[in-house]
Amino acid sequence: MAKCVKCGAELPEGARFCRNCGTRVEIPELKPDLLEQKKKDIESAALSMRELSDKMIASYVTGMKDFESSLETVKKEAESKIAEAEKKFADRASKLLVKEKEFAELNEKYKKLQTINQQLQTEKLDAQTEIASLKSRLAALESAATAPAADQSGESK
Ligand SMILES: [Zn+2]
Repeated sequence: MAKCVKCGAELPEGARFCRNCGTRVEIPELKPDLLEQKKKDIESAALSMRELSDKMIASYVTGMKDFESSLETVKKEAESKIAEAEKKFADRASKLLVKEKEFAELNEKYKKLQTINQQLQTEKLDAQTEIASLKSRLAALESAATAPAADQSGESK
């Protein structure tokens, strides 16, 4: 606690005059350079606070940009993979279509071959029938040739 410079009485806080002797209490005024120093300290503190917040904002923005760019990368990768898969699917579908067409063509050929085969079978049966009739005619002619003359005259009628 401060004391009066004249009588030495204790001075209460903020007193301007001594209650004992009435002497004016000298207030230790802040010197201009001290004020300036305080101002500078406050300014530098404010500056460092601002720098810190700027850094935080910058790192946040950078982080956001990194996040956005990595998101973009992931998105592009996914899109290219989807496009690739779609292309593969389209390729497979077109190949399948070609195979189906080929299969249909083969099926058509097979049906034609079956028809031809049936025709050949019919023709073969006809030929067999014809051969059989020719054979029987030949046998008849042979037996006529070896038969007695009476039969031969009967044949010639
Ligand atoms: Zn005093």
